[in-house]
Amino acid sequence: SVRAGIVVTGTEVLTGRVADQNGPWLADRLLELGVELAHITICADREADIDAQLRFLASNGVDLIVTSGGLGPTADDMTVATVAAFCGRELELDTDLESTITDIVARWARKRGSDPDLESVRIATRKQAMVPVGATWITPTGTAPGVVVTAESGTPTVLVLPGPPRELQAMWPAAVETAGVQKAIAGRTEYRQETIRMFGLPESELADSLRIGEDTIAGFDALEITTCLRKGEVEMVTRFEPDGASTYDAILALLDERHGSQIFSTDGATVDEQVAALLAGRRIATAESCTAGMIAARLTDLAGSSAYVAGGVVAYENEAKIGLLDVDPALIDTHGAVSEPVAEAMARGALARLGTDIAISTSGIAGPGGGTADKPVGTVCFGIALADGSARATTLRLPGDRSDVRERSTTVAMHLLRR
Ligand code: ATP
Ligand code: MG
Repeated sequence: SVRAGIVVTGTEVLTGRVADQNGPWLADRLLELGVELAHITICADREADIDAQLRFLASNGVDLIVTSGGLGPTADDMTVATVAAFCGRELELDTDLESTITDIVARWARKRGSDPDLESVRIATRKQAMVPVGATWITPTGTAPGVVVTAESGTPTVLVLPGPPRELQAMWPAAVETAGVQKAIAGRTEYRQETIRMFGLPESELADSLRIGEDTIAGFDALEITTCLRKGEVEMVTRFEPDGASTYDAILALLDERHGSQIFSTDGATVDEQVAALLAGRRIATAESCTAGMIAARLTDLAGSSAYVAGGVVAYENEAKIGLLDVDPALIDTHGAVSEPVAEAMARGALARLGTDIAISTSGIAGPGGGTADKPVGTVCFGIALADGSARATTLRLPGDRSDVRERSTTVAMHLLRR
């Protein structure tokens, strides 16, 4: 198989001031291509550190190295020079590239209303027109060109891309088409990838079922299965070569038999997308206490949500539940704010106030304080009201700290809406 490594450069990414977007984005693209990703490393904008990463990846036998960042005109951007040295190439001025960059920079300057002196622009951007001898450059989206240095016997092809995610993403298609990258990925395998999503299934039970599968399903080893637990959902991604399809079907059948009620998606759809589809043609309102708008935010994450999200109320204190959602004070006195009758009344209140087809509510104890013996931290009541006058409520005990409880409550709400 073809293996690749990614080197993300940038001190701001290393320190976490800027969250890395390029590593995960490139990882997805490489997987789509059928290239096996071996490593993503993040290192400082320092020649020695970039060089060390390149050597590390080469010694691990990768066929392709993709770098991101460090292509600017200033002296602190040194990725191209480092890659040239690593590949044993001199840097030379590419005059075509120099004109291209000069044109781009001059055009930008004119757009800002100034009249640039082309010769000074040329000098200022000359560094970015220096490419390793024999390398191919990729037309810049910003001012920084990408560079491809094609593999020679035993060394990987190196693809150098700029740091700004928008530029890197825009240049990717052209980069893939270069002879250097095509040569590096020539032996790739076409994989199929399937995602199964489950809710309310402990990961240990899934692990048990997969062990059974391993013992009973022929060809199981040939599939690469990764599971990941996220806020109460388990996501299982299976990658396999086309001839593994029947093995995958057998695994899916086994999981369906054992955990059918917990599997909510086998076609890649997320719960958010499923809820959006279910709400088509209807309108929803939210009434949130402990999640304080997180459900409304989640519902509106998807483009097009204005077709079905009417609005929501954040009713944190009792007075807000009473005043904004018409919850009967006596219900709060009798049952407490975190109770099924109050959650149900909140949902009814939002439904009536906003005139929607459906409403969902939360009232819970996110912690760290506020828990009692019969309502410990993590107790969350959910209510759902429908336009036909019916309503229901349910109570869950969710694990984790304050932010876990709130996040999980939001996910639970999405799953309640799905049913
Ligand atoms: P420029 O010509 O803009 O300097 P460059 O290739 O030198 O291009 P960098 O200096 O490495 O790019 O990064 C420029 C900016 O792009 C960073 O300040 C950061 O905001 C963003 N950026 C760079 N790398 C990443 C990354 N891996 N993830 C997210 N944003 C990034
Ligand atoms: Mg820079």
